Amino acid sequence: MQGLMMDYELNVPAILRRADELYGDREIVSRLPDKSFHRASYAEVISRTKRLAVALRRLGLDDGDRVGTFMWNHHEHFEVYIGAPAGGFVTHTLNLRLHPDDNAYIATHAADRVLVVDKTLWPLAEQFVGRCAFEHVIAVGAGPTPDGALDYEELLAAADEGAFAYRNLDERSAAAMCYTSGTTGRPKGVLYSHRAIAIHALTVGPGIGLTTSDTVLPVVPMFHANAWCFPFSCAIVGAKQVFPGPHLDPVSLLEDFEQERVTVSAGVPTIWMGVLQALDANPGGWDLSPMRMMTVGGAAPPRAMIEAFGERHGLRVAHGWGMTEMSPVGTLSGLEEQEIGLETDEIYARRALQGPPIPFVEIRARGGEGLVPWDGATMGELEVRGPSVASAYYESPEADDRWTDDGWFKTGDIVTIRPDGYVEIQDRDKDLVKSGGEWISSVALENALMGHPAVAEAAVIAVPDAKWSERPLAVVVLAEGQSATPDELREHLEPHFAKWWLPERFEFVDEIPKTAVGKFRKTALREQFAAS
Ligand code: ADP
Repeated sequence: MQGLMMDYELNVPAILRRADELYGDREIVSRLPDKSFHRASYAEVISRTKRLAVALRRLGLDDGDRVGTFMWNHHEHFEVYIGAPAGGFVTHTLNLRLHPDDNAYIATHAADRVLVVDKTLWPLAEQFVGRCAFEHVIAVGAGPTPDGALDYEELLAAADEGAFAYRNLDERSAAAMCYTSGTTGRPKGVLYSHRAIAIHALTVGPGIGLTTSDTVLPVVPMFHANAWCFPFSCAIVGAKQVFPGPHLDPVSLLEDFEQERVTVSAGVPTIWMGVLQALDANPGGWDLSPMRMMTVGGAAPPRAMIEAFGERHGLRVAHGWGMTEMSPVGTLSGLEEQEIGLETDEIYARRALQGPPIPFVEIRARGGEGLVPWDGATMGELEVRGPSVASAYYESPEADDRWTDDGWFKTGDIVTIRPDGYVEIQDRDKDLVKSGGEWISSVALENALMGHPAVAEAAVIAVPDAKWSERPLAVVVLAEGQSATPDELREHLEPHFAKWWLPERFEFVDEIPKTAVGKFRKTALREQFAAS
């Protein structure tokens, strides 16, 4: 027997319409290149969003055509995020920290017809634009428009908002696109459907308790993994949004938090490490009392950092694990309701875990002998499925082996799962240290090392070993003015790990190279140290 419910499409236009009808007076604030603040209401931004959709159609774009973006986080980027899919097009975010060759490849592979670019980023964009088939370049922000480009403001001014109509777009059609960073092989395109975004916005937003009374500052770049879905989950509840523009240094962020009374923020661990150092250097320097949750994800945050925020500054760090391929959130920990009745030690232990899956994400882990038990001890590769998980990469059939025969996505992350469903990421498959047939978690060693007061950052990599096949090597950045010897660091690790886990070699460096989204670039470390 069929249910008798409407076939209502879950799509971005429906998200936009809701924000349009209900939240017009809420605010969207952006930090401009000169550090001043631009303020607008949702009503003003939504009007511009609609005009953008109309203008793109007038430029000749058809349904499904890709609109590339190359921008910092600000209201214009938000306008494209929502406006392109609301008009039937597909937003494609390009990562401004990638090499121009990679962006040339990605924009060509995705067949982007338009590029919307910050004028301040033109010197970077110029290095790949000529190699792609963009038919129009639209330049955003103050200052002169590059030759041959259209000015974003002029384009919007010429578009008639009245020509915009809310369309009942097929929820299974594409709304947005984002390429994985390509740490292995060529970057691969993930193509989000309207339905995936709508369901994800509904599970992630309320999942972290997001409401209209929140003020959200996403430090995570809008080009990283669907901006963790924040543009959509904020719009659906009408949360005030604060965009940091190009100013991602800790002090600028702390100024934004204080001035705009930010309640929720989100970024990778390196961002929060910097903020913690600034707070430690100037405790009480900023009034962060409205902040109820700083979410961290993208790489494993050290427990010591999570605990330092809580104990020294009274700030809650919530922790998410996810992937570009998952829209991108998979698990969440550090939520208030998960910690009722727990002792302090257990609270921090849990926040350092990646957490249980969010609704509509199913998990299982596979070892050499099939699926592993949820015992918190047996390691296996995490597999996932759900309505916001990719079912294939865009035009990359060579990568189809990332899916199991029964349709689950193989994450490449090695995990243990506890009986209560809490996932603990042990490593990325390719970063795991395989020593004498056993597995050593580089993540666990790194986070323990970063708990030592003299250590600012630590990355552990596998180096070849004649006897054990691989052994762990620790690359350490010492905190300013601090010192520590390899023996002292080994002693610090000893109580927590089996003896054979402890690294023999420590290398002290000034800086650990980072990827385009701020994670440790272990491939570079392996090249530097594996042979020596
Ligand atoms: P990439 O890092 O390849 O640019 P993603 O941002 O999609 O692209 O990376 C997803 C990967 O990042 C996951 O597979 C996992 O290895 C790692 N990751 C993400 N969040 C966490 C986390 N909270 N803890 C540990 N690892 C994480």
